[in-house]
Amino acid sequence: MSEFSPIPVGPISSNLPGVPGFYKHSGRVPANALLAGMLAAVLGGFVLGAVWGFVELYLHLAPAKLQIAGFIFGVGGLGMALGYLPAVVLIRFKARSPFAMFACTLVSAASAYYAAWIFFIFAWELYGQTGRPLWDIAGPVSLARDVKSIYDDGLWRLLGEEWIPTGIYLAMFWAVEFFTLLTIALRTAMKRLNKKTFCENCDTWGTARPIMEISDENWPALKKSLLAGNIDSLATVKPRIYAMPFWCDVTIEGCPTCDNVQTLTVTRIVVMQNKKGKTSTKKTDLVRRLVMTPEQTVQVAVIAAGLKGPVSEGARDTI
Ligand SMILES: [Zn+2]
Repeated sequence: MSEFSPIPVGPISSNLPGVPGFYKHSGRVPANALLAGMLAAVLGGFVLGAVWGFVELYLHLAPAKLQIAGFIFGVGGLGMALGYLPAVVLIRFKARSPFAMFACTLVSAASAYYAAWIFFIFAWELYGQTGRPLWDIAGPVSLARDVKSIYDDGLWRLLGEEWIPTGIYLAMFWAVEFFTLLTIALRTAMKRLNKKTFCENCDTWGTARPIMEISDENWPALKKSLLAGNIDSLATVKPRIYAMPFWCDVTIEGCPTCDNVQTLTVTRIVVMQNKKGKTSTKKTDLVRRLVMTPEQTVQVAVIAAGLKGPVSEGARDTI
């Protein structure tokens, strides 16, 4: 299996002694992953865009309130799908390259946008019973001519009012639509790519193991020393107090079979309750994917084992 890497970097951003390293994807992408990812982007994007073209026609004919809701949910949902699809395929084929993820997502959004135009015009003509066959619409030259005529004449009354946007005003809606789609798609895809670490040694995605819940007492100091790569600061932590709505989760993330890549993530959790009694959880990483030596990994595991089990309210006076 051939592989190439546009940016030849290792999984660790720093291996200078005394400088903490944080996990970073290597940027490698197997050739078959790129091929499968691009295929999924072109075909999947096209199908999703075609469906959206039909939905858009329906929305243009719908009452104003439904139009707004339909466009917001439609663009949001389509954007997520356009990022999710290439991401799932690329990750399945072990691509750990943000660049490949970006390229495939861009292609899926472009493919969807092109298909949406074709099928919107196709649906519109079906509705007006002047339908041309699909292949007469799909060509770039005739599509450009159709889009230009919509650009000149306008398409729909904005929010049921008298104003029919044309020209540059109409084009602005189209641009906002495309960039919203693209932004949501990229966010979705990148989020998925950054969900897991990858072990270049074993050619496999890593796993995350939550190993302890600690009190968040003095978390700014803990954060400072962890960011400096000082794992020893974990030795003095206390277990989470269950009566308190804030604590820190400690997770070791890395290769399930070797100790080539093991990383430490400490996440501060704050559970808040609003006036209506509804709770929400805020998560902030104090340190994310700090690369540990095998000795440090053992050290953290020993600390976790030494930490007493869950402490209930009775033990509150220990802090
Ligand atoms: Zn490994």
